[in-house]
Amino acid sequence: MFNEEELLGVLNSHGAIRKGHFKLSSGYHSDTYIQCMKILEHPSAANQIAITISEPYYDVPVDVVIAPAIGGMVLGFVVAQALNKRFVFAERAKGKMTLRRGFQLYKEEQVLIIDDVITKGGSIKEVVDLVNDSGAKIVGITCLIDRGEEKVFTRPLRSLLKISASSYEPELCPLCKKGIPLTSPGSRRL
Ligand SMILES: [Zn+2]
Repeated sequence: MFNEEELLGVLNSHGAIRKGHFKLSSGYHSDTYIQCMKILEHPSAANQIAITISEPYYDVPVDVVIAPAIGGMVLGFVVAQALNKRFVFAERAKGKMTLRRGFQLYKEEQVLIIDDVITKGGSIKEVVDLVNDSGAKIVGITCLIDRGEEKVFTRPLRSLLKISASSYEPELCPLCKKGIPLTSPGSRRL
């Protein structure tokens, strides 16, 4: 189990949180870039994080953990492992969030939705719709880092850390105006 301070320390020491001028995969510019894989690539740290995230759900009847690909896959798997439950991931096919590879959600199943970093929650909203369409029930939405912006989904979100970072439309970006070089570390949206 990590407390908040330990978690922030471990994320910083692994370079998972960077300060500068970044182009996010959403197209927005930001002074902060978060890449959770820098920490999740280490299995023992990933497991510690998973145990910390899972703790509030030990007494909740969860049947299956679901995460959006690709960002949420590693964390989703280790959390499912900590809870000893099934894990499935949703991925975009022709622009629509779908279950492929034989994954299924069954009616009345209790589903925990997870992602590594949630900003506005566009992917999570799509996963919420997918779970609702399947007739399964959402028992919670959780993440490692909540970037603190207003969400496009209405359900409560639990997070281990809140990191408020400024993000700007490119035309309005004050970092661009200062001439600070822009880096594009993000992978392209699928
Ligand atoms: Zn900018």
